[in-house]
Amino acid sequence: MAKVEQNLNISALELAAKNAYNNAYAPYSNFFVGAAALTKNGNIVSGCNVENASYGLTVCAERNCIAQAVINGEQQFQTLVIYTEQEKLTPPCGACRQVIAEFLDQSAIVTAVNHLDQQISWTVKQLLPDAFTPKDLE
Ligand SMILES: [Zn+2]
Repeated sequence: MAKVEQNLNISALELAAKNAYNNAYAPYSNFFVGAAALTKNGNIVSGCNVENASYGLTVCAERNCIAQAVINGEQQFQTLVIYTEQEKLTPPCGACRQVIAEFLDQSAIVTAVNHLDQQISWTVKQLLPDAFTPKDLE
């Protein structure tokens, strides 16, 4: 994990997401995705999509990114960036929205970027209103 200053640095996250994108394993869809998140401790973690010949076992970049952080002992995040080289910016899928809502605050920002330097951002609450979260199990 790379350590960064506490102030948000989207370009560092973009670079980490792009590097992860370059390692994506997507031979079936050819839809390559990289993701990077800034943890509350100021570390950057990243992930890419990993497909499988048994298609249902495919795991998205966002979920692999969050899992990578958890593996390294981090469970709290400031923000998450998704990188693709699609002309239409790529939002997280429904499964990833649920996992994002588990680990990022409702007010945290998720940003999709692409190779054309376009970007769009959402809050977690916008991505998954009325999310089922750990609080619902209390
Ligand atoms: Zn997904």
